[in-house]
Amino acid sequence: MTMTTPTTTTNTTNTTNTNPNVSTSASTFSWGVWAAALLWALLAGLGLLRVLAEQSQLATAPSAARPLASFLANADLAAKPKLPQASVGTGAERGMHYPPEPTPPATAPIPTPTQPPLALGQQPIATPTDRQVPEQVCAPWLKRWPSIAPKTCHQALLVPSGAQSVQAMPIAWRDVAPSQLPAARRVLIVGAIHGDELTSAVLALNWVAKAQEDVQQRSIHWRFIPVLNPDGFLARPATRMNASGVDLNRNFPTPGWEKDAPKYWKERTRSDPRRWPGPAPLSEPESRFLHEQIREFAPDLVVSIHAPYGILDFDGPQSPPERLGHLWLDQLGVFPGSLGHYSGLHLKVPVVTIELKHALDDPSAQEAARMWSDLIAWLDKHLPENPDPEAGRPY
Ligand SMILES: [Zn+2]
Repeated sequence: MTMTTPTTTTNTTNTTNTNPNVSTSASTFSWGVWAAALLWALLAGLGLLRVLAEQSQLATAPSAARPLASFLANADLAAKPKLPQASVGTGAERGMHYPPEPTPPATAPIPTPTQPPLALGQQPIATPTDRQVPEQVCAPWLKRWPSIAPKTCHQALLVPSGAQSVQAMPIAWRDVAPSQLPAARRVLIVGAIHGDELTSAVLALNWVAKAQEDVQQRSIHWRFIPVLNPDGFLARPATRMNASGVDLNRNFPTPGWEKDAPKYWKERTRSDPRRWPGPAPLSEPESRFLHEQIREFAPDLVVSIHAPYGILDFDGPQSPPERLGHLWLDQLGVFPGSLGHYSGLHLKVPVVTIELKHALDDPSAQEAARMWSDLIAWLDKHLPENPDPEAGRPY
C-alpha cells in the first residue's frame, strides 16, 4: 500500500510532474509541425511563383529559352507600338510588309560596264569581251522561261547595263548600231516592264537578231532592254510589279503625278495592288534606269512590249501605226505615270505600245517577223532619217 501510495503519489506526482513534461513535449512537437508546414508552404509558394513567372515569360517572350533578366531588359522593346501599316510609304516603311531582300545569287561577279557615260551622239555599242557574260545573263532567263531559245538568247550578246533591280539583279541590254555613229535614228525597245508578261521578253530577244540583220541597211541605232523588271520576271510565280510591289508603268514622272497617280489608283483601280504607282515618281531603280535611257540615249522612238490585250497603242505627235502584224491600233487611253503618257505625250518622244495576245504563248516566228517589218515601214514613213544627227532630232 505504502508502496502503492507513493507509487500512486509518485504516480500522481509523476503524473503531476509528467503532465507538464508531456505537455512541453506535445507543444514542441506541435510547433515543429507548424514550422515545417509553414516552411513547406513558403517553399511551395515560392515554387508556385516561379512557375507563374515562367509561364508569364512563355506567354510573352518570343523565345521560351530566353532568361527572365533578358526578357525584362527587352520588355520595353516588346511594348513599343508597331508603326501603322500604310498603303503607301517609303521603301523602308514598306520593307515591313514585304519579304526581306534576298541575297543576290552566288554567280561570278558582274563585270563593271566598260561603256563610258552615255552622251548624245556617243552611244556605246555593247562589246562584251568575255564570252561568259551573255551566258550569265541568259542562264536565269532560260531557266525561268523555257520558250526562250538558248541560241537566240546567247546570240543576242546581252550584257549587264550596270543598273540593278530592287533585288540587285542586273538589268541587261544590248546595242545594235551601224558602224557609222551617230546613227540617223535611235530606237529603244523595252520588254517585261511587267514581269509576268513573259512573251514580251521573248519578242524583244527575237528582234535583236532582226536588228542585226538590218543594221547595215538602215542607219538605226537600236537599244534593247528585253527585261526591265527582272525581279518580277524571275519570281515564281512571275509578278507584274517589281520587288517593291510597284507597277513600273505607273511610276514615270508625268505632270501632276503626286496628285493624280495615287488618286487614280485609289478611285479608279480600287487600290488594285497590281497597279500601285509607288510612293513617288521614279521611286524604283528600274523606272529610274529607263528614265535615264530616254534622257541620255534620246531615242526617236520607244517601243514598249506588253501582253495580253492583243492590240497596238500609240502615244506621240506622229500619226500612229495602224497595225503591226495581227495587232491593230486601239488606243487604251492615258494613265498617270505610264511610259506612254510620260514619253509620248509629255516629252513628245513617240511610244509604240505592243500588247501581244498572250502573256505565256509566244507569237509565231512569222508573226514576229511581220510585226518587225511593219514597224520598220512605219519608222521609214513617219520618222525619216535625220540628215544631220549631230544637230539633234528634227521631230
Ligand atoms: Zn503590261
